[in-house]
Amino acid sequence: MTIRVGFGFDVHQLEAGRVFRLGGIAIPSDKGATGHSDADVLIHALCDALLGAAGLRDIGFHFPNTDPQWKGKDSKHFLTETVRMLHAKGWRVGNVDCTVCLEQPKINPHIQAMQAVLAPLLQIPADGVSIKATTNEKLGYVGREEGVCAYAVVLIVKS
Ligand code: MG
Repeated sequence: MTIRVGFGFDVHQLEAGRVFRLGGIAIPSDKGATGHSDADVLIHALCDALLGAAGLRDIGFHFPNTDPQWKGKDSKHFLTETVRMLHAKGWRVGNVDCTVCLEQPKINPHIQAMQAVLAPLLQIPADGVSIKATTNEKLGYVGREEGVCAYAVVLIVKS
């Protein structure tokens, strides 16, 4: 059995009046993330971690933000395609561990819903999808609520 680790990071600006997509669901919020796709910062960090673990470059390489076909795209599509690429190389996902950094709204009430969406896409049990949240203690761009960022660490396994 071979195992590999991968790490991902992503950041998006926040803007009033936008739908806030995070972890594959819409979260009630005054502000939503802006971007070329649906700006789901958690899924983007997760894709980068998975692609990195498998030596498959990064999300921008496969789904460039200059390509009109990805405009407004549901990021679950990127995750599905990423997992498909890993499977094609003989990898399966072991577990994932993510942290989202933002001041508000509170993410904790939505974590189970995100796990329920992401686990089938990753093809692992829900308890293999760890999603954590922290504020940035009012510091920097996250603290000023100008942006949201996410970190992800993944393990992938080849039998
Ligand atoms: Mg992104």
